[in-house]
Amino acid sequence: MTLTATAPVQVVDKRSARAFVDTHVMPYADDYDRIGRVPEDLLRQVAAAGLWAPFLPAESGGAGMDLVTLGEVHEEVGRGCSSLRSLLTVHTMVAWTVQRWGTPGQRERWAPALAAGDVLGAFCLSEPGAGSDTAAITTTAVERGDGWLLNGVKKWTTSGQRADLFLVFARTAGSIGAFLVPRNAPGVQVRPIDDMLGTRASMLAEISFQDVVLGPDALLGPSGFTAGMVLTGTLDLGRYSVAAGSVGIVQACLEASAAYAAHRRVGGKALAELPLIQAKLSDMVTDARAARLLLAEAGRLKDAGESSTIMATWIAKYFASTAAVRHAAEAVQIHGANGCSPDYPVARLYRDAKVMEIIEGSNEIQRITIAGQAEREMTR
Ligand SMILES: Cc1cc2nc3c(=O)[nH]c(=O)nc-3n(C[C@H](O)[C@H](O)[C@H](O)COP(=O)(O)OP(=O)(O)OC[C@H]3O[C@@H](n4cnc5c(N)ncnc54)[C@H](O)[C@@H]3O)c2cc1C
Repeated sequence: MTLTATAPVQVVDKRSARAFVDTHVMPYADDYDRIGRVPEDLLRQVAAAGLWAPFLPAESGGAGMDLVTLGEVHEEVGRGCSSLRSLLTVHTMVAWTVQRWGTPGQRERWAPALAAGDVLGAFCLSEPGAGSDTAAITTTAVERGDGWLLNGVKKWTTSGQRADLFLVFARTAGSIGAFLVPRNAPGVQVRPIDDMLGTRASMLAEISFQDVVLGPDALLGPSGFTAGMVLTGTLDLGRYSVAAGSVGIVQACLEASAAYAAHRRVGGKALAELPLIQAKLSDMVTDARAARLLLAEAGRLKDAGESSTIMATWIAKYFASTAAVRHAAEAVQIHGANGCSPDYPVARLYRDAKVMEIIEGSNEIQRITIAGQAEREMTR
């Protein structure tokens, strides 16, 4: 199924994204969580607001947005609904990859449709037997005639139930290739994965590819191009978006907790007057600001084309995701029993936050990477 944007692409910034989220997302995020999907109407509104891929250049249908601003926009979406932010993240990864690594023909065919939200993208790397260990993927793409024959199974594909275009990583003779695979290609099968712990409306799926025949134009980049650079760059941008979404979760925890603590009275006092509660709120304020600054630093380095952005993004994501888990737990605590009920958003924030420590580089992999870099720098 495809979407048709009904309004021209808008220029988005943090303020307009916040207004969009407050009106169209925040009031309904718990419902999306309960029904396990983001409704088509909202996807259309995201398209009309120009939120799908505003970083693409104008000739590809985007608004040429810088990556600092993109981070701010994804923070706002993450503040409202991590499931929607997850859909945005994987779509961003696909649109960016097409723009950055695609041939002129691939860009012309896909980029404007991705910018308009007429085509939604999903990112297929993980497999039943390969997650952190990306080198263990077993999906194969074998050259056949002037095209490819794709076989394998991808798991945990965010937006897999909904997306129209899959960016699939597969083994080729002696390398790994990145392939653009339309959902409706014969041999593609989608098995929904529902009832996850968090980001429950992000429409995950297991995707199997059985003798899927692809043309030569499915392979990203010129012939002989390996997917290593594509993987590094695409995962880096996805990680940046997840870091932004995690900052949004901390901010949402702060806003929900401050509002609740101002009104809930215990022993004749508002919770907000109690020193132990004030300590929790002040830690949320401080970590939200610190996480936002780390994210902005990573974004500035991206905009400047500095390769050090990759480590800055690892650090931003590590800090923001662990802060999200810590503060979501405290937000539930501040709400007491209400925090465990479906009547307040903090239970959802708590479940969503945990996912942030697993996706786009788990916490353990982040620590290994950050420590490895520190060791290299110290022993130079
Ligand atoms: C909600 C959700 C959405 C997702 N969306 C996508 C998607 O759109 N596309 C996609 O391709 N994938 C997606 N994934 C998969 C995700 O990328 C993987 O879950 C992640 O890479 C971790 O892999 P794994 O789950 O196989 O864990 P494993 O790799 O099996 O790791 C298990 C545990 O061991 C730890 N570990 C691994 N290696 C080491 C080590 N060397 N030292 C110490 N500890 C280690 C890990 O940190 C983890 O805690 C999604 C996952 C979730 C939960």
